[in-house]
Amino acid sequence: MRKLPDTGFTLKSLSYKLFPATCHLCMMNSQRSFDLCECCEAALPLVALSCIHCALPLPEVLQTIPQIDIQPICTTCLHAPPSFKRAIAGFLYASHIINMLHRIKFQQGTLDSYLLSHLFVRQLELAYTKQRLPEIILPVPLAPARLFRRGYNQSAGIARQLGQELNIPVNYHLLSRKLNTRPQTGLNRTARAKNLHNAFQVDKPIKYTCVALVDDVMTTGATLQSLAQCLLSAGVEEVHVWVLARTPQ
Ligand SMILES: [Zn+2]
Ligand SMILES: [Zn+2]
Repeated sequence: MRKLPDTGFTLKSLSYKLFPATCHLCMMNSQRSFDLCECCEAALPLVALSCIHCALPLPEVLQTIPQIDIQPICTTCLHAPPSFKRAIAGFLYASHIINMLHRIKFQQGTLDSYLLSHLFVRQLELAYTKQRLPEIILPVPLAPARLFRRGYNQSAGIARQLGQELNIPVNYHLLSRKLNTRPQTGLNRTARAKNLHNAFQVDKPIKYTCVALVDDVMTTGATLQSLAQCLLSAGVEEVHVWVLARTPQ
């Protein structure tokens, strides 16, 4: 069969030229087969350099140090590393990301969730070029009362997308919250940790050695720390944390 010459021109790209899509953020016409225009995608705040353990953004000046092959660690983790071995954040909690995360959390912003998760996958693939990906993805569970009120768990949506694109299974039922804890917003680091004491449980025997915990945003990391401790006590050897966004210090 005679092959058509490769012109780099597909029916799909033609359809986007004839019927331009609208960028989800600036509402301008876009000829991409993706709901963000190139400008808006480029303006999303990335974390240039972050602590390997807690994903805290570190001063960019550190990037100029030639032997940066050394894994960067923040001063907090240097003194008291968290229970999770590695944390990776897709974006800095700033500008458009704040609004997108708000829609994901409170308005079931499925398009926002899809867009950020899809872009985050590229970063995860880069981060794991020299290391095996975790065997399973576990979304951070919501408190039962909050799940009932809201009707969905934003972390489960993000986990589903990451799992599909990275080809990793997702377990939505392994972790649960035993208690209806207060929302963490407005609490300081100590109060957050106290609020979460004994809040989580692992519901089934665990057969995984390395798992990835997925959440929308990481602030002090108290929720993820509590879950990681729970998983380590249940026999998991290594916990990684994947969050769409990380707040600066
Ligand atoms: Zn745009
Ligand atoms: Zn750190």
